[in-house]
Amino acid sequence: MKKFWLLFSFFFAFILVCPFFGCEKRDAITEYKIDCELNDNILTGEETVDFYNSYSQSLKEIKFNLYPNAYRKNAKYTAVAKEYFYSAYYNGESYGGIEILSVANANMPLDYSITGVDQNILSVNLKDELFPNERIKIVIKFKVVLANVISRTGITEKSINLADFYPIVCGITNNGFYECVYYSNGDPFYSDSSNYLVKFTVDKQFNVAYSGTIINKKELNEKVTYIIKANKLKSFALVLSEQFECIEKNLNGISLRYFFINDENPIQVISAVEKAVVLFEERFGEFPYESFSVCQTQFLEGGMEYSGLVYISDELLDLEKIEVAVHETAHQWWQSGVGNNGIEHAFLDEGLCEFSVALFFENYAEYNFSYQDIKKSANENYRLFCSVYNELFGEIDASILRPVYKFQ
Ligand SMILES: [Zn+2]
Repeated sequence: MKKFWLLFSFFFAFILVCPFFGCEKRDAITEYKIDCELNDNILTGEETVDFYNSYSQSLKEIKFNLYPNAYRKNAKYTAVAKEYFYSAYYNGESYGGIEILSVANANMPLDYSITGVDQNILSVNLKDELFPNERIKIVIKFKVVLANVISRTGITEKSINLADFYPIVCGITNNGFYECVYYSNGDPFYSDSSNYLVKFTVDKQFNVAYSGTIINKKELNEKVTYIIKANKLKSFALVLSEQFECIEKNLNGISLRYFFINDENPIQVISAVEKAVVLFEERFGEFPYESFSVCQTQFLEGGMEYSGLVYISDELLDLEKIEVAVHETAHQWWQSGVGNNGIEHAFLDEGLCEFSVALFFENYAEYNFSYQDIKKSANENYRLFCSVYNELFGEIDASILRPVYKFQ
């Protein structure tokens, strides 16, 4: 009984104290606070990573992916495939990269080194072991140079694609941190869901597409500063353009946005995205975010998915545009909501997304593109690929379970 009263008193004290000291339960995930400013092609930033050790063992170092280094001169693994060089580097050669200016914990500098197979990893040594379920705050100052390139990250002719721009903690697997090489094909990222609070300052002529929700916006002289909050993202991304127009739809509290550069019928895209979300919520489960931005931007492949924000290429036409927008929307379930390692097992989320697209067209007859049509076109494309490949290079490896870098 005494024990009971002791426990009861603790519980009561907790209830009384909590409203004053904010004891609300925190997600057991890493939190990022990023403060950055873009001036021309230079992005300077400071991020505070409140790292949560979700690994089963204690850690003596924390590893971060440095994706922008794939744009540097002499990168071993370039972010752009050789066959795309000419069209991607529209003004000729252009280079970028990320420089780490300092790394600290509680104002005390921490030892760090740039490692990985291609200067793609920042490895930070901790002074003390970090045990499972413990947290540590690491403050990183960095400078990114953006290349003039049509790619996942870079300054295009019409927009600035700003994904993968900050040091991002490597995803944790059974073997510890998974180091990503920023391959030119597929989706070469693997990170754990994290919460974000991002302060972003940019020239005010840009319209900004973002993952999450703007909680504050301030203009000062020629600059505008946004404060954006977004939870449980695999990574945070932005797209900027002076030409962006935006239409928005509210779907049961989810804010769906379509940012477009040049689209005579933007309603067609936003309504397809809305229909996709309705269908996928019904079939798969709740949409994982409070908002979703589809951005039409300069991009050489059809589209690209990030949590709460996706790219669709401005070169797509009509049905292609719908198909890609729906595919990228499906990634909010298959990749973001239900995460997998897209480098090692790309067939998982990509296969489920293509299946989701087929479900979409089966369900919405108005597009005159049936489930069977999709199957037929996938089959034909595959057979054509095989016969051309056989002709040119000999026998094809048709295995599916391969990492992205083993696919040509
Ligand atoms: Zn995909």
